[in-house]
Amino acid sequence: MHSFKILLVSPEAVPFAKTGGLADVAGALPKALKALGHDIRLAMPLYRQIDKSKYFLREVDSNLSAEAAGRKESFALYEDGRQGRAFDTWFVSHPGFFDRPELYKDPSTGQDYIDNEERFAFLARAVLESCRATDFMPDIVHCNDWQSGLIPAFMKVDPRFPEFREIATLLSIHNIGYQGNFPATSFQILGLDDSLFQPDQGFEYWGMVSFLKAGIWYSDIINTVSKRYAQEIQTSNEFGYGFEGILRDRAGDLFGVLNGIDYDVWNPAKDELIPAKFKPEKLEGKAKCKNALRRKTKLPMVRKDVPIIGIISRLADQKGFDLLAEVADDILALDLQMVILGTGDKKYHDLFIELQAKYPKKLSVTLGFDNELAHLIEAGSDMFLMPSRYEPCGLNQMYSLKYGTIPIVRETGGLADTIENVNPARGTGNGFVFRKYDSREMLNAVKFALEVYRNKAVWQEIMVRAMRQDFSWEKSAGEYVELYRKAIAKSGRGAQVAG
Ligand code: ADP
Repeated sequence: MHSFKILLVSPEAVPFAKTGGLADVAGALPKALKALGHDIRLAMPLYRQIDKSKYFLREVDSNLSAEAAGRKESFALYEDGRQGRAFDTWFVSHPGFFDRPELYKDPSTGQDYIDNEERFAFLARAVLESCRATDFMPDIVHCNDWQSGLIPAFMKVDPRFPEFREIATLLSIHNIGYQGNFPATSFQILGLDDSLFQPDQGFEYWGMVSFLKAGIWYSDIINTVSKRYAQEIQTSNEFGYGFEGILRDRAGDLFGVLNGIDYDVWNPAKDELIPAKFKPEKLEGKAKCKNALRRKTKLPMVRKDVPIIGIISRLADQKGFDLLAEVADDILALDLQMVILGTGDKKYHDLFIELQAKYPKKLSVTLGFDNELAHLIEAGSDMFLMPSRYEPCGLNQMYSLKYGTIPIVRETGGLADTIENVNPARGTGNGFVFRKYDSREMLNAVKFALEVYRNKAVWQEIMVRAMRQDFSWEKSAGEYVELYRKAIAKSGRGAQVAG
């Protein structure tokens, strides 16, 4: 097998900085690619929350510069210096752009930073300059989401980077709802020829500059994070967020690759963040985790056969909490307890705080980002609710399966690709699935789950079946390698690299 030199660019990656599932992907896929024998490097910004001493960061080059908004911006390139690190990571250090309290939003206003287009246009060029300065010329540049969408564009049309013209590119779309669209005036910041800012070219989108459109337009191959979502985003505005036409135009180059799970991190048999370990052959630890979860979230220690439904989520419209709002009273009238961990839109913060005040014995709400509690919720809950309006892949339902916490999901995107409705008579299924985006349907799915839960033997069978499923990265990484191969074949250097 030919091994590839891969540059993976991501605006976030575990363990360094995370706001969502992309970080899990960017932290785990490189390990799996390395295990397959590829030469992989991850590149990302050096944000404030990345502790230089914790990761033994060392300077690769302190004297680099990249252009943004017509200025030469100086930056330094650092690398992960840990002994025994799983793969190499580059950090682009520009304190003015990245030494800030959060990754994308200003916490004092709750709005995106006003110079995000400048920050990520700079990042795109800084990454290419870093390749140049270190002589790391990849066979494939794998970009992720709008924050790195300009890289394929700069590689193909920016006169500053002629040696990148024929290097292959792949863009992964983790969520089409986030497009990096900026006012037309932002095109100046990119420092490209004005003739490129036309509707039939790669940057212009309804009078705006779209970083994601540029990525889609100029990448050799595009993928999203489940097969179902790859189809959905081509169908309608509801799923494609206006990009359905652009994506249909590139249907032949658009693929779906399900995210894998990092079972070094999410695995009840070796999870150091939970009070008792467990596995399919030895489930006792799960009851201990359930008690610990009740203690930690201050839920009363009611009968142990009262199930706990867990939720861990960004609190955004995408995640379907308006359904929960509609039937919250019906759900909380049932014989169950519920634990919610999340952060996001204020309206959901208010909603959940109000519900908690109304049902203190049944509902515990933690507003914030708390990785340790997320592990305890996966381990200690019996069921996990994801009523998403759309869900590109979704990771928590797959974590839940591993922890024997049975998902209740809406049939969309990656949820549809990973969860099959339980059929107790046939002994099949790994979760509870409802189809329509409708609160009554969701309520019925919860009721059905509770009914099945009452039969201990059947429930245990479902748990064990779920825990034994394998969504590890190995298979998905192999599919990415296939996409790299396709991208390289399409790019100018196809023959060269393959030979
Ligand atoms: P998305 O990327 O749309 O937010 P995913 O399901 O793909 O959704 O991934 C979300 C990831 O972020 C999961 O690893 C989940 O555990 C984590 N997560 C989300 N919200 C929180 C939170 N409030 N605290 C801790 N972890 C969270």
